[in-house]
Amino acid sequence: MGIPIKLHITFLLILPVFALIFASNPAPYGFKNVVDLSTRYILSFATTILLFSSILLHEIGHSYFAKKYGVKIDSITLMLFGGVASMEEIPRNPAQEAKMAIAGPMVSFTIGTMCLVFDGVISGLQPSFSDGNIFHVIWLLGYINLGVGVFNLLPAFPMDGGRILRAWYATSMPYVEATQRAAYIGKMFAFMMGILGILSNAWLILIAFFIYIGASEEARTTAVNVILEKVPVQKVMSSDIVSVQPSMTIDEFSKLMFEKKHMGYPVIEGNNLKGIVTFTDVHTIPQQERANMLVSDVMTKDVITVPIDADASEALKLISTRNIGRVLVTDNNSIVGILSKTDLVRALQLLSE
Ligand SMILES: [Zn+2]
Repeated sequence: MGIPIKLHITFLLILPVFALIFASNPAPYGFKNVVDLSTRYILSFATTILLFSSILLHEIGHSYFAKKYGVKIDSITLMLFGGVASMEEIPRNPAQEAKMAIAGPMVSFTIGTMCLVFDGVISGLQPSFSDGNIFHVIWLLGYINLGVGVFNLLPAFPMDGGRILRAWYATSMPYVEATQRAAYIGKMFAFMMGILGILSNAWLILIAFFIYIGASEEARTTAVNVILEKVPVQKVMSSDIVSVQPSMTIDEFSKLMFEKKHMGYPVIEGNNLKGIVTFTDVHTIPQQERANMLVSDVMTKDVITVPIDADASEALKLISTRNIGRVLVTDNNSIVGILSKTDLVRALQLLSE
């Protein structure tokens, strides 16, 4: 589907941890009963790899429907808590959002059922758990996939169930309100889970935290996007732009920065935009090297721009997905302004009054 699949550093960390958990759990949830050590670890590792492959398929399930509804997907990342499909804004269409959300758990249920049925059909041939064999891997995989499906249907952000709940609310109220209600239920859920965790299992406390943060985050970003959608970029950008030449030395550039007190400057040669140079690009350069280094050595060449008729939520989306501090605003290929994260924060504060 043309979607890059990425591995987060925490994923590499969790891989051996999961393999160890499977190796040290007794049957049927692990392979501790397998006498031969190398077989025990090979099976544990295979289960881990297959488990994360199933989670990848779960994310692909979401992405398939997202693509179908015209949502652009940047990438799927496998990480500590499973997988995350990073996509553009989710459609504000309850039916589409619900289908997108439910597709993931459906994939997990399908894999789970297929594994268990397959295991059931061949279980007549299956030797005991203590021998360690591939059928045991399939059974365990099926069991966990059903668990993943159920867990994701919990009616709490950032789980898929939270999105389904929001879609349901959104059929009868504005989107922001629907998000806030769904987030509220998510937080209540996290709270109860936390209490349950204190009484029983510490893992639940961790999951409760994860849900609480996810719910708050979702409510906040939605509110922010809805506010900024009504604001044209032109209203919040600073049009007082100072550009610099690529041949300027870092020394001269630092002096200019102190004088003008901006944090970012477009780099222009003749009439062409060559890049953007910011405080972050130069502040780590040692004093003695600043006289010999040029702006062109440290500037970012891949400049992100937004057209002047865009709305501020589009600028925010670029700033946060590309993890940059500012975007340049263009009008018919000429630079007319610069819009930074700080400008957006200020606009938000004023508008939410
Ligand atoms: Zn999901």
